[in-house]
Amino acid sequence: MDFRDKPEEAAFRQEVRQFLKEELPDRFRGISAYEGGGRGDVRSRFGELKEWRTKLADKGWIAPAWPQEYGGAGFSVMQQFIMNEEFAENRAPQVGGMGTSMIGPTLIVHGSKEQKQEHLSRILSGEVQWCQGFSEPESGSDLASLQTRAVRDGDDYVINGQKIWTSGAQYSHWMFMLARTDPDAPKHKGISYFMIDMKSPGVTVRPLVNMTGSAAFNEVFFENVRVPAENLVGEENRGWYIGVTTLDFERSSIGSAVGLRLQVEGLIKFAKEHTKDRQSNLEGQATLRYELADRLVEANVARLLSYRVVTMQNKGLVPNHEASMTKLYASELNQRIARTSIKVTGLYGQLMPGSEWAAAKGRYGSSYVQTLAATIAGGTSEVQRGIIATRGLGLPRD
Ligand SMILES: Cc1cc2nc3c(=O)[nH]c(=O)nc-3n(C[C@H](O)[C@H](O)[C@H](O)COP(=O)(O)OP(=O)(O)OC[C@H]3O[C@@H](n4cnc5c(N)ncnc54)[C@H](O)[C@@H]3O)c2cc1C
Repeated sequence: MDFRDKPEEAAFRQEVRQFLKEELPDRFRGISAYEGGGRGDVRSRFGELKEWRTKLADKGWIAPAWPQEYGGAGFSVMQQFIMNEEFAENRAPQVGGMGTSMIGPTLIVHGSKEQKQEHLSRILSGEVQWCQGFSEPESGSDLASLQTRAVRDGDDYVINGQKIWTSGAQYSHWMFMLARTDPDAPKHKGISYFMIDMKSPGVTVRPLVNMTGSAAFNEVFFENVRVPAENLVGEENRGWYIGVTTLDFERSSIGSAVGLRLQVEGLIKFAKEHTKDRQSNLEGQATLRYELADRLVEANVARLLSYRVVTMQNKGLVPNHEASMTKLYASELNQRIARTSIKVTGLYGQLMPGSEWAAAKGRYGSSYVQTLAATIAGGTSEVQRGIIATRGLGLPRD
């Protein structure tokens, strides 16, 4: 494979770089999509980021992957990948969230004309933030066992039940969710897909505070919540298949391994600069040097794995176990980088943001605890290994 950009790709990369250089205010650098609900989390800074959202919306870059007829940029897979790489290199926030990456593409495929009209334009203008209400206390990996009920009553459905781990629900205006409409049908066949206005009476959001002290996700309770029937996406009881479309968009969203490499490079720089003040244990520790070198090599392996997924998508193929390999490798590497960071920074590194003694303002301590969730969110490592074993290696299921 030739890793160099083709001339038109190089020109596009330059355009993105130039745009970021001229338009991205410095104070927004480093705000990322998944930083555990704290000040570094794009969702919690929705109001503040309006200026940046407007610039991206004017450029048509809020939904780079959507077809132009729906107001997207209609970018090719390679263009999206280049854009993601450049945004990561420049620590620029991508603001579309689950609206552009999950519910928008799902509505484009399965939504009615009215649903597309009502919701797509508001996602594109960046006015509306969405959350995903799939997981329940007893249903995560085995999602089809979900128990939240929706019962038809006149022009509405009445929803009762509970969701959990709902990322960003406390900042969201709308939720896309799955509920059981036919409890007697086989489990995959009695589920429907709804869109719920989070201001509806009977919706209660309770933030769950994680180990870093911030609330990235929530419990969401539904008590007799009335949802107009026009908010049902697709047919009643066919919601599982629509949910699978949403999950495909979640898994195939073109990730970028650039962030992992930048983390390792940042750690190496910190380790070199802080041997004197003893915030770095690097001095005289050959094994730590080797470990840092391993992490950098692995970050490049993660990059190659994501190139493989992008190359497949570029050829119109649908990555399956290949996407699982990339997710598994990148999430476990994220944890290894966090462990290496703690070894390098020692006791200072374990301190959390807010402590005057914390190395790098507590970045390493908080990333150590935050990355624990990386191998659970978006499908656990065991589930990814199951996919690689059965669909990739062709091993028997039992
Ligand atoms: C940070 C974070 C953000 C999240 N955000 C959202 C969100 O926005 N919306 C949402 O709906 N959900 C969200 N989730 C939930 C996430 O999708 C689930 O946590 C995940 O699917 C696992 O489900 P579970 O927690 O119920 O664990 P379980 O499915 O109960 O798993 C428990 C253990 O059993 C193992 N296991 C389960 N099934 C198998 C199997 N078939 N083979 C081998 N091992 C298995 C698992 O690997 C795990 O170790 C989020 C989770 C996290 C951590």
